[in-house]
Amino acid sequence: MQLKETSHIRSEEIQASGLESRKVGGLTYVRGTALFPISWLHTQEFCEYQIFLEHVRGIKVTPTRSLTEGKQEHQRLYDNFKKVAVPATFEEMLAESEKVRVISREFKVFDTRHGIYGRIDEVLLTPDGLVVIDDKPGMRVFLSSMQQVRGYCLAFKERARGLDYRNIIGALRERGTNNIYWQEPFTTAVEEGTVGLVNHIRSLITGAKEFGSADNPNKCRSCRFSAKCDRILV
Ligand code: SF4
Repeated sequence: MQLKETSHIRSEEIQASGLESRKVGGLTYVRGTALFPISWLHTQEFCEYQIFLEHVRGIKVTPTRSLTEGKQEHQRLYDNFKKVAVPATFEEMLAESEKVRVISREFKVFDTRHGIYGRIDEVLLTPDGLVVIDDKPGMRVFLSSMQQVRGYCLAFKERARGLDYRNIIGALRERGTNNIYWQEPFTTAVEEGTVGLVNHIRSLITGAKEFGSADNPNKCRSCRFSAKCDRILV
């Protein structure tokens, strides 16, 4: 099923918040609340200084080949999905999935409770549970990918709050395949850890905490900001 657009963000709802004065890029505003992209949970685990360089200092770098290919693949999968998808509201999808499996792709989430937003690659709704899937190249289980999908689970749980109480499972899938290579129930403990991480990033972007940087030179070697970073280790 394809989610009917529900215009979560209306221009009249976009207001300035305290975060704007720091001129942080990449944020979006819903009813006066600043939300940051869930992908920053991935970035933070690799090196949170990347967030500072790109979104506070405003440094522009060319997207990596992997990023560009990933976007193209997402678009291709979504275009194919749209050809067969039936538009439905979230409530209709939840009701239908009590009886049969329902798939939604590019599922948008705007979580004003935790201050995060993003687009989930795929949500699989089954009578037994709700699976939040993030597609990644390869099959290596990186903590950064786990943190990102946990962020999607957090925002998805918030979206379903008051509507559905089925268990939520976070999953990583090899891009372009049906191969789920990692999955984890979104338990209370996982949720608490994720909220802690979200709050940590929030305190970085408000300036309450200082940005740290990588302590592993190998990360700097493969970093797309290496030519412009004043904390590079190599
Ligand atoms: S060069 Fe190293 S310290 Fe600088 S942003 Fe990249 S990974 Fe972080």
